[in-house]
Amino acid sequence: MIHSASDDTAIDVAIIGAGFAGLNAARELEKRGLRVQVLEARDRVGGRSRPGQLNGVTIDTGGQWVGVGHERLTRLAQEAGAALVPQYGKGRKVLQVDGKARTYTGLIPPVSPRALIEMQLALVALRHLQKKVDAARPWESALAPLDNETLASWQKRWLRSRGARAIFDIGVRAVFCARPGQLSMLHFLSYLAANHSFDYLISAEGGAQAATVQGGMHQLTTHLARQLRTPVLLEAPVMRLEQSDTGVVVTHGKGTLRATRVIVAMAPSMARKIAGDPVHTARDKLGERMPMGSVIKCLVAYATPFWREQGLSGEFVSDTAPFSPVFDHSPADGSCGILVGFFDGPEALRWSGDPDGRRRAVIESLVAAFGPAAATPVDYIDHDWIADPWSEGCYVGLPAPGALTELGRALRAPHGRVHWAGTETATAWTGYIEGALASGEAAAQEVALALQAER
Ligand SMILES: Cc1cc2nc3c(=O)[nH]c(=O)nc-3n(C[C@H](O)[C@H](O)[C@H](O)COP(=O)(O)OP(=O)(O)OC[C@H]3O[C@@H](n4cnc5c(N)ncnc54)[C@H](O)[C@@H]3O)c2cc1C
Repeated sequence: MIHSASDDTAIDVAIIGAGFAGLNAARELEKRGLRVQVLEARDRVGGRSRPGQLNGVTIDTGGQWVGVGHERLTRLAQEAGAALVPQYGKGRKVLQVDGKARTYTGLIPPVSPRALIEMQLALVALRHLQKKVDAARPWESALAPLDNETLASWQKRWLRSRGARAIFDIGVRAVFCARPGQLSMLHFLSYLAANHSFDYLISAEGGAQAATVQGGMHQLTTHLARQLRTPVLLEAPVMRLEQSDTGVVVTHGKGTLRATRVIVAMAPSMARKIAGDPVHTARDKLGERMPMGSVIKCLVAYATPFWREQGLSGEFVSDTAPFSPVFDHSPADGSCGILVGFFDGPEALRWSGDPDGRRRAVIESLVAAFGPAAATPVDYIDHDWIADPWSEGCYVGLPAPGALTELGRALRAPHGRVHWAGTETATAWTGYIEGALASGEAAAQEVALALQAER
């Protein structure tokens, strides 16, 4: 897969980052007959999608679910010959609030009637507010002043009961890997506008966690990479982009190359580490004020999916246990049982750098949810995305309060010959693989038009 790039290599477009966004941009540009080179810092393609092996099963230690409406991703899976498997959801779910675990079926969690009413009113209010925000330009909406407010302060006004706050917090942490106090209310609404609704984002059936890819999500990036005429140049971190009137000199770990245009396809917080001449102060500052969420993803294998025999679906959410949410991710062939879950937000920060401690915390959380049978796994794997130097956290970059209104315009606007992609730049399905694919398409279209205009 490694291509030798010499100093005098001259191409149409250099694409930096071999995640879904960069690979899809490359594919679109090659379709138009352009000469493209993808440069990737890691020794693999996929970025925030990453494979792993657990008890002989290939699993995803990064992005995993295909949501309802993720059409590009669904088409890509079909094209790669990978089946989509609906998320297992038969049986009772476990909810733990203030240390007390209760099981339930359906969509209504076992909390007080007051908490349920408050939650419903808040969801209706959010649906109403998100309609007023254009996800492509939230800073221009009438609600732009909400960029100075955090989700926590909004939540405090709408949710007063303990149960409602606990459930809302669990949902926010699961979606953003951050506390409500870290999130700009404007960004929160823009994210909901780009991704259907809050209920959609926290749901499996009919929502963002509807299905998984048999054989793993990661195979889809391998599929995209294999189709490229010019192989991805791996282990080639880009350090510097130097623009002139005719092109860009790209300095990377294996040399330099010249391209007429460049697409930087990664989160803004990573993009700002690439030195630019000329410097793009606003984009760099935006990257600084858009840190990644905090998450550690863990998968635990058992000899059988024993929770199913107890009438449980494997879904567990908690405001008490450090490891939550959890879902059943057992292979369809029944060869073993697998639970997948997350340390998110503050819990991820707490357990980052302590692999033994967090493994114990995972098992303790699962025993609290599913009983003593959870104490004897046959295999375990995790990935600490905070400690991963080419992501520095996940799932997505989170604009701090004030950042969108002050600097949001720099998110997508080209900087001379440098264009931007990556799920953070998507105007729909932002934060998700679908958004990454769409952003790659949009950047490719922008670059193709710019090249055409220059010829
Ligand atoms: C644990 C986890 C669970 C998730 N779950 C889901 C899910 O279920 N469904 C879903 O749709 N999404 C999920 N996501 C989010 C999804 O994975 C991302 O939205 C998507 O993969 C982003 O793709 P991207 O191409 O925009 O960015 P990335 O995948 O981050 O690609 C950027 C690439 O740029 C490279 N790079 C960085 N700096 C440089 C440099 N200087 N030079 C060269 N290369 C560089 C990186 O190594 C990386 O390969 C999850 C993410 C994580 C981590």
